[in-house]
Amino acid sequence: MAGNVDAPPPLESPAARGGEPAADEPWAGWVAVVTGASRGIGAGMAARFAARGLALGLCARTTPAAPTGAEQRTLVASVDVTDETAIEDFADAVVDRFGRIDLWVNNAGVLAPIGPLRAAPAAELDAHVRTNVVGVLLGSRAYARHVRSRPGGGALVNISSGASTNPYAGWAAYCASKAAVDHLTRVVAIEEADAGLRALAVAPGVVDTDMQASIRATPREDFPSLDRFLALAEDDAFNSPAWVADRILDLAVGATTQSSEAGRDVVVRIADEPRSR
Ligand code: NAP
Repeated sequence: MAGNVDAPPPLESPAARGGEPAADEPWAGWVAVVTGASRGIGAGMAARFAARGLALGLCARTTPAAPTGAEQRTLVASVDVTDETAIEDFADAVVDRFGRIDLWVNNAGVLAPIGPLRAAPAAELDAHVRTNVVGVLLGSRAYARHVRSRPGGGALVNISSGASTNPYAGWAAYCASKAAVDHLTRVVAIEEADAGLRALAVAPGVVDTDMQASIRATPREDFPSLDRFLALAEDDAFNSPAWVADRILDLAVGATTQSSEAGRDVVVRIADEPRSR
C-alpha cells in the first residue's frame, strides 16, 4: 500500500524561513521527519520540534495531527514503515515540500508479542521484526539516499531501547529488534560518514505512552519484570517526550558528548530527566 500523502500549500525555502541560524539554536530552519508520530513519543517529539521552529514531516499508519500552530510548516501522511514504496514516496513528498531533510527520526515501533518466546505465534514475530527492524532499515535507507542526493550532511536518529542490551524475559522479539537497531545504526554510521550523515541509536528512557500502558497491563506470568514498571509509574519516574526531543536535537547538532560506555559508539541512552519532586 503506498503512503497517502496530504499536500498542503507550499512553503518558502528553509533558508528563507530560517535565515542565518542563531548560535544557540543551530537547528533553526531545519526540516525533521518523525515516523510513528500519531501518538506517544513521536507525537510529543513533533510538538516539541514544532515549538522550537522546525518544519516537520510526520507519518504513522494513522495520519498524525500537525502540532497546533505549526500546521503550515507540517506535512502529514499515512505511511506503514514496512512499506518500501510508501516510505520512499513520503521522503520525496517532504523534500518536494521543504527542499531537504536535516534530521530523520525512525521512531515507529511495536512491543508485541509479549510473553515467553515458546508461546509466540510466528506471524506475530514476523510482523514485529518487519516494523522494528525492516521499518528502520527502510527509513535509514531512504534518508541515506536523500543525504547523498544533495550537498551537506544530516542526522539520522533510530529510536532504540534499554532492552537492546538488557534481556527481559517476555520480550524476546523486542530485545532482539532493538539490538538490531543499535547494530544496523553502527553500520549506517560508517557507510555514510563520508556523506556527512551522523547516525545515532538513541534509547529514550522510560516515557509514559500507550506502550508503557500495555506493559503495565501484561499478566505477571508473561512478563516477570512487571513490578519494576509498576513502580516507575507509581513514582512518576518518566522522561517527558519534550525532554527526549531536546536531547535528540542536542545530539543531532553534536552539541553534547553524551555517549555510551563504548566512548565513540553511536548508541546513546538519554539521561533521566531531572525531577523537582
Ligand atoms: P506507542 O505509544 O505505541 O506509539 C508507537 C507509534 O508507532 C505510533 O505512532 C504508531 O502509530 C507507530 N507505528 C507502529 N507501527 C507502525 C508502522 N508499521 N508504520 C508506521 N507507524 C507505526 O509507542 P511509544 O512508547 O511512543 O514508542 C515510540 C518508540 O520509542 C518505539 O520505537 C519504542 O520501541 C521506543 N521506546 C519507547 C519507550 C517508552 O518507555 N515508551 C522506551 C524505550 C523505547 P500507528 O499505530 O498509527 O501506525
